[in-house]
Amino acid sequence: MDEKINKSSVLDTDDGNILVLVNRNNLISRSYIPVGMVSVQGTERLIKREVHIAYLKMKADALAENLDFYIDSAYRSYSAQERLFISYGGVNGQKRCAPPGTSEHHTGLAVDILALSTKKGLYKCFFQTPEYRWLCDNCADYGFIIRYPYGKTHITGYDWEPWHFRYVGKEAAAEITKRSITLEEYLNCV
Ligand SMILES: [Zn+2]
Repeated sequence: MDEKINKSSVLDTDDGNILVLVNRNNLISRSYIPVGMVSVQGTERLIKREVHIAYLKMKADALAENLDFYIDSAYRSYSAQERLFISYGGVNGQKRCAPPGTSEHHTGLAVDILALSTKKGLYKCFFQTPEYRWLCDNCADYGFIIRYPYGKTHITGYDWEPWHFRYVGKEAAAEITKRSITLEEYLNCV
């Protein structure tokens, strides 16, 4: 599928921009390697160092209110995206799974968070948990946004994903949340 992609819209290198836009129109290449990656709390999952620091602070503050959650998915390499895409049925399943090169999980700035109050791996029920409500109210204070909000599919290209959080830094997160907009709208890319 690489031949069909307009190379001018493909980002090859990580310049450290935490507002980097990755979607179905703004792709990153197979060779894109995010810099400054660390392990999430000693697991095999990887995210950027500043995202990890913000996440740990957010987690500690939630824990102080007896709410706990974990990162179920973080960095995904291009080949991991390919495997996932194929497992969802390839082109036929692309409404449910991002084609390789279009996943912001590749940037090290996106995480899928799930609650520890439910059975592990429960994505469908996450939006009904107190952890989700707490994150909706508070994640912007730590620099995160809900990247694929309900009712914004026509802009983001993705269905509502309450578990998918994107680190954009506190300033952008505050404005995006206050105005109930998407990263695309914040960057004037729609
Ligand atoms: Zn995700």
